Amino acid sequence: MLMKGKKGLIVGVANNKSIAYGIAKACASQGAKLAFTYLNEALQKRVEPIAAEFNSRAVYELDVNNEEHLNALAGKIEKDFGKLDFVVHAVAYAPKEALEGAFINTTKEAFNIALGTSAYSLVALTRAVLPILNDNASVLTLSYLGGIKYVPHYNVMGVAKAALESSVRYLARDLGVRGIRVNAISAGPIKTLAASGIGDFRMILKYNEINAPLKKNVSTDEVGNSAMYLLSDLASGVSGEIHYVDAGYNIMGMGDVCEDEKGKTILCWDKEK
Ligand code: NAD
Repeated sequence: MLMKGKKGLIVGVANNKSIAYGIAKACASQGAKLAFTYLNEALQKRVEPIAAEFNSRAVYELDVNNEEHLNALAGKIEKDFGKLDFVVHAVAYAPKEALEGAFINTTKEAFNIALGTSAYSLVALTRAVLPILNDNASVLTLSYLGGIKYVPHYNVMGVAKAALESSVRYLARDLGVRGIRVNAISAGPIKTLAASGIGDFRMILKYNEINAPLKKNVSTDEVGNSAMYLLSDLASGVSGEIHYVDAGYNIMGMGDVCEDEKGKTILCWDKEK
């Protein structure tokens, strides 16, 4: 039991399709005790039964943009759950109109909302729980390839993920003196609530499946297992890292090639889409 005796806070469960759910499942299966947050009352009804699935009654309201929620969080968790050995930040949001059309038309408001909720929130959350983080704790966030490369429709979320990945490195340095590690998983596309806001997402899924070395898309269980490793002591020498869990898609320099019926080389996308 790799996570026996460890307590963790999971931020970002919306339902059982959430990546955060996959991470919670993997950590609980290795003996971790879990606390959860929910964004608002509508999601409270979904998150509480999920927490119960993991034998947890430690469930707290947290809008990462709400200073009062952030200020109250550590006190509440310490009182009824105890100190933390790990934190999962699986939060992102951008206004829908910013994920359509050309990036150049991104408004300042949409830019600030996306960057604030999806990148700054990691800094704010980590600082908020720092007083109750045990030495050698592990903090993990979720990124996407769109933070380092152009991906259609990802637009301002790509810029937010770039800021998030950079924040991982700066936080890793700051917290390293206490042995606290900060890492990100850059996950391949997965059909979740957040992903449903991204245009042509089905096409993105198909394109990844056809072109990834492993010829598949990843599941929340696969991301969960890799996350569990980064949250566990197995990764005690790993910090500031962006770890890809994407069936290898990120290594491809161009679309993969296949042979047609006549043995001619063509793009697998043209053959299989
Ligand atoms: P999801 O919709 O299940 O989770 C997103 C979560 O963010 C939800 O629980 C939502 O309540 C929360 N959230 C949004 N605004 C918030 C706020 N102001 N305060 C607190 N919580 C807030 O979708 P997901 O795909 O599991 O997303 C989790 C993370 O994984 C995100 O950072 C996302 O960008 C990242 N990611 C997703 C994919 C994918 O294809 N699904 C790929 C790579 C990375």
